[in-house]
Amino acid sequence: MQQTNAMIEVRAVNKWYGDSFHVLKNCSLAVGKGEVVVVCGPSGSGKSTLIKCVNGLESVRDGDILIDGVKATDPDTDMPKLRARVGMVFQHFELFPHMTVMENLCIGQEKVLGRSPSEAREKALSLLERVGLTDHARKYPIQLSGGQQQRVAIARALAMDPIAMLFDEPTSALDPEMINEVLDVMVGLAQEGMTMMVVTHEMGFARKVADRVVFMDRGEIVENSDTEQFFAAPESERAKQFLSKIL
Ligand code: ADP
Ligand code: MG
Repeated sequence: MQQTNAMIEVRAVNKWYGDSFHVLKNCSLAVGKGEVVVVCGPSGSGKSTLIKCVNGLESVRDGDILIDGVKATDPDTDMPKLRARVGMVFQHFELFPHMTVMENLCIGQEKVLGRSPSEAREKALSLLERVGLTDHARKYPIQLSGGQQQRVAIARALAMDPIAMLFDEPTSALDPEMINEVLDVMVGLAQEGMTMMVVTHEMGFARKVADRVVFMDRGEIVENSDTEQFFAAPESERAKQFLSKIL
């Protein structure tokens, strides 16, 4: 496992929900600069919890999380500032419904990064072009398809010039015909060298761009392998069973 030069590092993290539910059990992983790591595993295994801990939306009981060498788990760290540097894309788009696509892309740039409206707009336009949505800048989220909304969500995250991108099942709420338009954007990002941690069951995507695949089960990281190795010969029985069900 890459330990030096990691953009994201999770070190021996334990998390409980309440007093009785040990949801993350001694989890460790590293995502190197420019690496793509896919996280998969059965529903309820703790994937979303892990990714939320990485960007500080959930706290951990012990262990450390480092983003570009900065300890997110240190109480002195300016978390809003650190979180602004990491893009997050959720299953359910989470666009601001009362704002147009353009406003969705500009608000963070202006309020958090202090860009001028014209700078923000220029950046937004170039990103909308990149995700193929130039003609939709004035629309509201509800006027877009799920695939289009998710591409806006990715563009919005990219507008903040993130040092890494986190995705939590970005295509699992989409109709099948829209999955590829979102995956294509993600493949492009991966190929440009973006550091990415992606929770997904899209194994075609994993095979194509992931450097490593992490398999979680019941709160544990059961396997953390090179992508080829993972698909050719998963080490654990649990990963084998999981793959036989979804491939
Ligand atoms: P996954 O994303 O792999 O499906 P999650 O991280 O969402 O798994 O959930 C892991 C476990 O934690 C599940 O059993 C889930 O029900 C539970 N869980 C998730 N969020 C909370 C919460 N806020 N409070 C209590 N339990 C939760
Ligand atoms: Mg989840």
